Amino acid sequence: MRITGVMVQYYFTCRRELWFFSRNLNFDFENDDMLIGRLIHGESFERDWKEIFLGDARLDVVKRRGKLRVIEVKKSSRLEEPAKWQLRYYLYLLREAGVEAEGVMSYPEEGRSERMGLNEEDVKILERAFEDIKRVISLERPPRAEKKPYCRRCSYRDFCWV
Ligand code: SF4
Repeated sequence: MRITGVMVQYYFTCRRELWFFSRNLNFDFENDDMLIGRLIHGESFERDWKEIFLGDARLDVVKRRGKLRVIEVKKSSRLEEPAKWQLRYYLYLLREAGVEAEGVMSYPEEGRSERMGLNEEDVKILERAFEDIKRVISLERPPRAEKKPYCRRCSYRDFCWV
């Protein structure tokens, strides 16, 4: 089973969401936020960004002062922490491939960005998360729904709250 950046983000957002996504209920890919995010991305970095593919992951990168930067652009900081783990996961994949890089979380509509690295504690948390992602996905039924701040705008809300 391959773990993807989206799975890592969902894991840190909601285990139930991760389970639904693992069953190919993945219509979240084309929601308005993601489309707008892609447009913002194109406008913000159109001159020098590149896409690189690492396994199933597609990374948006720029080179600055001889160092690779992985840019994760989000429309809003609503899912800031889970999005940061997704970015750390990309830095982890690059490190495993022998490439040291730094990450930048960018929120163009909020006029801010944040640089990020990957430390040893992050690596431990991610490696524990990989094991738990496998456990969650192998469950026969989804974990119970628990109210979270994200539920209101979650694509799977109709499967949780009727
Ligand atoms: S609606 Fe809430 S509980 Fe249900 S999958 Fe989404 S975030 Fe999880």
